[in-house]
Amino acid sequence: MASLLEIQDLHVNIGEKPLLNGVSLAIRQGEVHALMGPNGTGKSTLAYALMGHPGYAVTSGKILLDGTDVLGLSTDERSRMGLFLAFQYPVAIPGVSVANFLRTAINARRRALDPQDKGIPVPEFRKMLKAKLEMLQIPVEFAGRYLNDGFSGGEKKRIEVLQLAVLLPKFAVLDETDSGLDIDALRIVASGVDAISGPDLGVLVITHYQRILNYIKPQFVHVMFDGRIVESGGADLALRLEEQGYDWIRQKYAAAGTAKA
Ligand code: ADP
Ligand code: MG
Repeated sequence: MASLLEIQDLHVNIGEKPLLNGVSLAIRQGEVHALMGPNGTGKSTLAYALMGHPGYAVTSGKILLDGTDVLGLSTDERSRMGLFLAFQYPVAIPGVSVANFLRTAINARRRALDPQDKGIPVPEFRKMLKAKLEMLQIPVEFAGRYLNDGFSGGEKKRIEVLQLAVLLPKFAVLDETDSGLDIDALRIVASGVDAISGPDLGVLVITHYQRILNYIKPQFVHVMFDGRIVESGGADLALRLEEQGYDWIRQKYAAAGTAKA
């Protein structure tokens, strides 16, 4: 049966400052949702709260994965349950190679399923990694480089999608994976995501722009404003935003937001 990720009336603060003011969203495995909206409206906050970033305090609401509330779980537990986040701003981990990082992550997954697991055999790992590197057109020497250390913005985004391709989660949140990519890199990265997606993956694509949605086609589009989802619709909503920008969203919802604050 398809898994279900449900975000219910989520409120999130940083310190005293409320960033999310009641976000509800349900994503089924196999569905592609896009989350759009102006800068600073809480999109990354939602992504971080999903993964359990310690700086983001959930003050009320629920995040349910197949009915299990994940809010009490650590980030690595959420990952082992099948949640994945591709960061808007990936961090470098000097001293840890891309290959080592990925193999450690795979083995952590395997051991969560079977505590006796001996880990993925190295030849199998190499073969799998080579195929995924090729799919994303990442030069093989990147496997030996330290994670994101000295990588360009576009290279970092490719490595995020490589992690997605290797870990094959149930739900993937892609936080502005398209930003900083030139048109060729965008096509490669987005086609890579498209190749991975299917009935076993639910995707939340966070983006400003419609263009990535030409490759990763959403069935559902949501617009966030002022820490809330204010509009939801089909793919046509993304096209409307591309044509008309976000001003109509601001005009329609800014007053309500101010009145409430
Ligand atoms: P988006 O991803 O939609 O651009 P964010 O979720 O990153 O927006 O940010 C939402 C709001 O929270 C913004 O006003 C931002 O300045 C604020 N914010 C984000 N991180 C912090 C932080 N660590 N401390 C204070 N405010 C923050
Ligand atoms: Mg953001």
